[in-house]
Amino acid sequence: MKNVTIIGSGPAGYTAAIYTARANLNPILIEGLQPGGQLTTTTEVDNFPGFSSGIKGPELMDEMKKQALRFGTEILNGEITAANLSKNPFSVTINEKDLYQTKTVIIATGASAKLLNLESEKRLMGYGVSACATCDGFFFKEKEVVVVGGGDTAMEEANFLTKFASKVTVIHRRDQLRASKILQKHAFENNKINFCWDSVVEDIMDPDQGKVTGIKLKNVKTGEVTKKNCDGVFLAIGHSPNTAIFKGQLEMDKMGYIVSKDGTKTSVPGIFACGDVQDHVYRQAVTAAGSGCAAAIEAERFIEQS
Ligand code: NAP
Repeated sequence: MKNVTIIGSGPAGYTAAIYTARANLNPILIEGLQPGGQLTTTTEVDNFPGFSSGIKGPELMDEMKKQALRFGTEILNGEITAANLSKNPFSVTINEKDLYQTKTVIIATGASAKLLNLESEKRLMGYGVSACATCDGFFFKEKEVVVVGGGDTAMEEANFLTKFASKVTVIHRRDQLRASKILQKHAFENNKINFCWDSVVEDIMDPDQGKVTGIKLKNVKTGEVTKKNCDGVFLAIGHSPNTAIFKGQLEMDKMGYIVSKDGTKTSVPGIFACGDVQDHVYRQAVTAAGSGCAAAIEAERFIEQS
């Protein structure tokens, strides 16, 4: 029987691991399909306290993993394929075969990039369509790309892509950005970035079947449909929480985020949630790490009291 099972390996999961391991609870942590979480797909992290010159996202996650291992966390490679949270001890199945019983569960499964739900987008993912500029920007040297979205992610991705692409066009469905003022300023000042306002992507074109050549755009104010040539389409329209496996077992909001009360307590005693899976407001590495710490302390108290 495990004391604590942590699901997810972003800043929330690793912080929960560091704290529960230091409390001698011998936690196990299941890494999930994207070990290290979303930060492994970013370049510079400038705002994580303690790194005055910034640190690369993958490096930060590697350090967190080493720190969790140093205190004895058992880290398992794989994903949760089933979870029964209806009675304590809870049970989780890893990779469809290994069943673990556990007194507490800390859910830190994060959130994943949203897609536009176009047939062409699915078909061309990895062939000119991407949801991660850091991962794929390199392939667009001296090419023209578009970034869809008007938030912080879209501005960061657009700025990053100008290191490679000859031209970056931000496609936004309104005429005002949602992004923070500082990121807007960087984007407006970057002469490789153009903006296409009040517009949505209706289709991604690949006449030769297999490589993006352009997009079909619709102006939402005039209804006019135009074509725009480009070699790459980067999606930056937000994220969805990774909660499908817990549906019906925990209280969630209408967007599927786990509802947590008094910090990280979920609707089931002994199950805690931290990081982006329960936070669609702040979604920062440092807030995720903070809530991972809180979840660990709550799990420790729960075990002591039960
Ligand atoms: P976001 O803030 O939710 O922005 C999503 C953007 O995509 C919005 O501009 C939205 O348009 C647009 N959008 C959504 N669905 C769309 C659709 N189906 N078609 C076309 N456009 C669509 O997401 P985010 O930019 O990923 O940021 C998420 C959170 O992470 C935020 O809290 C942000 O501050 C934070 N973040 C911070 C940093 C940083 O501080 N360095 C970096 C990245 C992210 P509308 O504006 O019209 O809704």
